[in-house]
Parts: sequence; C-alpha cells; structure tokens
Amino acid sequence: MVQPAIINVPSLQKSITVPTGLFINNEFVPSADSNEVIPAINPATEELICNVVAASSKDIDIAVAAAREAFNTTWGKNVTGFERSRLINKLADLIERDAQELAELETLNNGKPVRIARDFDIGDSVQCLRYYAGWADKITGQTIEVDNKTKLAFTRHDPIGVCGQIIPWNYPINMWAWKVAPALAVGCTIVMKPSELTPLTALKLSELIKEAGFPPGVVNTVPSLGPVGGAALAAHLDVDKVAFTGSTITGRKILEAAAKSNLKKVSLELGGKSPHLVFESADLDQAASWAALGICYNSGQDCTAGSRVYVQDTIYDKFVGLLVEKVKQQVIGNGLEEQSGGGPVVSKGQYDRVWGYIDSGKAEGAKAILGGQKRASKGYFVDPTIFTDIRPDMKIVKEEIFGPVLAVGKFTSEEEAIKLANATTYGLGAGLHSSDANQCMRVSSALEAGTVWVNQYNILNNNVPFGGKKQSGIGRELGSYALDEYTSVKAVHWNFGETLAWPL
Ligand code: NAD
Repeated sequence: MVQPAIINVPSLQKSITVPTGLFINNEFVPSADSNEVIPAINPATEELICNVVAASSKDIDIAVAAAREAFNTTWGKNVTGFERSRLINKLADLIERDAQELAELETLNNGKPVRIARDFDIGDSVQCLRYYAGWADKITGQTIEVDNKTKLAFTRHDPIGVCGQIIPWNYPINMWAWKVAPALAVGCTIVMKPSELTPLTALKLSELIKEAGFPPGVVNTVPSLGPVGGAALAAHLDVDKVAFTGSTITGRKILEAAAKSNLKKVSLELGGKSPHLVFESADLDQAASWAALGICYNSGQDCTAGSRVYVQDTIYDKFVGLLVEKVKQQVIGNGLEEQSGGGPVVSKGQYDRVWGYIDSGKAEGAKAILGGQKRASKGYFVDPTIFTDIRPDMKIVKEEIFGPVLAVGKFTSEEEAIKLANATTYGLGAGLHSSDANQCMRVSSALEAGTVWVNQYNILNNNVPFGGKKQSGIGRELGSYALDEYTSVKAVHWNFGETLAWPL
C-alpha cells in the first residue's frame, strides 16, 4: 500500500487527497522493482504538486497479468452485459458526485480552468460512460443464412481481451473516459497508462473504479514514462489491443512495436493541422466566434485545433478584424480563478515548443497581428497569437503546434480553398462557414478529414464517431463505431442436416 498525497490548495481553502501508487488489482501498490517517481507539476505556478510512483516494465507485466486474470475469471467471461452496464453507470454517478474535486485536480495538474474541466471535460465524460453503459447489454452479432435447409452461420462479437490504453495530457479525464467506457462495455479489461505530465486524475478515478464495485484487475492504472510503460504495453505479448491517443510520431512507434510483437490490434488517434474555411456568404460574426474557439479552446492544445484559417479575399479584412476582437476577449489566467477562460499550456516542454514556433513564424516572415509577446510572470502562459501573411512552406503552416497559435491565409475561389485545406499530411478535423447549402455540401465532401464541421467548430458528441484520415489516425472512437475497436468477430458455421459424402 502506498500512502496518498494530501495536496493543500490555499486559494480554494481546502486540501485534496490523491493516491500516488500504481493501481493494480484494485490496490494502490509500490513498484515491484523501481524507486522512480513522476513529478506532477502545476503549470500555472511551476510548483511541484506531488510525486507519484512510476511503473517499470516489470510493473506493466504485473498489471497485464492482473488484467488477464480478470478477463478470464470475471469481467471477460462471467459478467453479464446487464451487470457491466450497472457498474459503468455507477462509475458515472460517482464521477458526477465528485466532479468539482476532480475538476480542481485536473486544473492543478493540467492548467485548464476548473469551470471548463467540470462542465465540459467531466460533463462529457459522464455522458460518455452512460452512453456506453447503454450499449453493454446490446452487443450482438448476426445470424446469416447459408443454405435454407441444413446450414446457418452466426457471429459473436467477443471482447478482444486485455487492452493497453495510452492517453495524452490535453484532456486527461476525457481521454480516459473515451478509452475506458467502450472497452468496459464490451467486456475487455484494461491497463491504462496516463501521460507522465498529468497522472493525478487517472489515479483519482481509479479510486472510483474500486468504489463502484468493479472486480479487481478490470481497470489497472500505471503512470509511467512513455518509452518505459507505453513502449512495454505496445510490445507486450499478452496485450490483445492497444488504443492510443497522442502524437503521430509516437503512434508510428506503437504500430511498429505491435507489428514486431504479437500483431495486436491497434487504434491510433493522432495529431492534426486542421483547416477552417470562411466563405463570403458566411455569417462573419459567428464564423469569427467559432474560429476563435477553434484556436483558443484548451489553449490550442487540441488535436482538432483549427490552426489554419483561410478566408475568402472579398471579406478578408472585415473577418480578420472580427477575429482579432473575439480572440482578445479570451481571459487567460490561473485555472483556479473563476474568470479564466483559458489556462497555461501544460508544461515547460510544451511552453518552449510553442514559443519555438512563434519565433519561427516571425523569422520566416509571417506577421504577428496579435500576441507573440512573452509574459514576465510565472507560469507557462502563452497568449493567443495570430499570424497573417503566411506561405504554405512555413513551419507554422505545416506543423502541428499544439498551442494557441493561428495562421490566417486568403483564397479567391472555392477550388483554391479546398486545395489549401487539403495540403497537409494530416486529416483529423476541418471546418467551413458558408450560407450556400450547395457549397457546404460540395466542400464538406471534398475536405480530407475524419470530421467536418459546417457553420460550427470543435463540437463532438458521444454518439457520433471521431477519428482521423491520412496521418491523423487509424480507427474510430465514440459512437457505435468504437465498439468494433474492442471486439473480435467470431463466425460459427452450423450444420444441422447436410451429410458429407466422402471421399469427394
Ligand atoms: P505523445 O505522443 O508524446 O504522448 C502520448 C502518450 O504516449 C503519453 O502517455 C506518452 O507517455 C506515451 N508515449 C510516449 N512515447 C511512447 C512510446 N515510445 N511508446 C508508447 N507510448 C509512448 O503525445 P502528447 O504530447 O501527450 O499529446 C499531444 C498529441 O496528442 C498531439 O499530437 C495531439 O494532436 C494528439 N492528440 C490526438 C487526439 C485525437 O483524438 N486524435 C486527441 C488528443 C491529442
């Protein structure tokens, strides 16, 4: 048993207790063979919150064995869909009960405002769990007539088995829910590796897994460095599937590790450089609001951040003026303060990376019409920065920045807009604003992206699939589509009348 950490939060006049051990078989335990710890840092103050135990590759073996045992003895084989549904709903209720404290912890470790964490990230996560709880007793295959007198076949959608789930730091609770909910619904067991930058809420949620009454080993949580625990999961011979959200570069390594080990099933939700097109017939005020949301939300640390906005030349000046006004309205500050609409970026590494891009934009000749100046105060704050006068070869136009840095360009024709939008190796999200219905249909069909938003941006629903084309990923999360990622289809061929005349 590892003692929890008690975090004092003077500005909230309270303390929050967080487990700090590895969560295996429903207990918080030390590493089997390592004294490594992961420091959890508050990005608004740059201060240490607490240390948590870092899992070694041996710990990953132990967690996988626990998940395998639970799969074979309880969750995967001997628990009905009705019972899985009841427990997932119970978990959702507990998260709803603790939403305020979970949100505060998310803010301390990730930086995002408490209000946003509570009402959006956690609200959506609770809904996600309830959505998949609804599926748990509705996992069905097909009955397929083979010949109408003597034979039929049927399919079973079996849980795939032990799942390694590797998640990033930008939505620690939300990404946890997106992964855990469909896997639990179909009867899989889980070894969850949260990001080393944001391990705290995954550990807190693990307490709720136990309180909800899940059998030991169904969900195991192993904070660890990516190249240690993440790599061990991706290469593990007894893991049946890895679900990953993170950067394209890491996704490639995971696919390679899966190929070289046991050819486990892999789903990848990767990066993006999503375009946002504004046509002259659009409601410009609304388009500017959505474009501001697209780059400011979560301080731009969003896989679908609308980081390239292309505007029709006839309305360019008017639109850019509106956009700058909207983005200026965003209050960036410590997420524990009620008025903050955006927080710091997550870490020193991310802060340096984003500033590297801002410097490169300036050096390559783009014009910063908003932001682009560092703050003198403590904390990893980056004020939203808008660049105009861009060229397709600039780094800020080609590469995912994962910060509040927007590149704004111009187009003349619809054809040119589509060409600019699709000129990327990514294909995650894309947005367009127009009041011409035919244009909306033409352009949304032509955009190479897993999700296209028309006259809105960045809105996701738990019952609608989400995922990437091109180098933005493989597979789909959310909706009924996610169930396919966690099931294995077995075809049973049944003969009830044919006699084999042997030899042929
Ligand atoms: P990252 O790839 O650095 O890390 C993601 C996770 O992978 C972390 O848990 C990390 O520890 C782990 N990891 C690192 N190296 C590993 C390795 N060699 N083997 C196995 N696991 C390893 O990404 P990040 O910086 O945490 O997250 C930002 C990225 O995530 C961005 O590119 C963003 O676009 C992407 N993202 C995508 C989606 C989506 O749904 N498509 C959602 C959120 C974030």
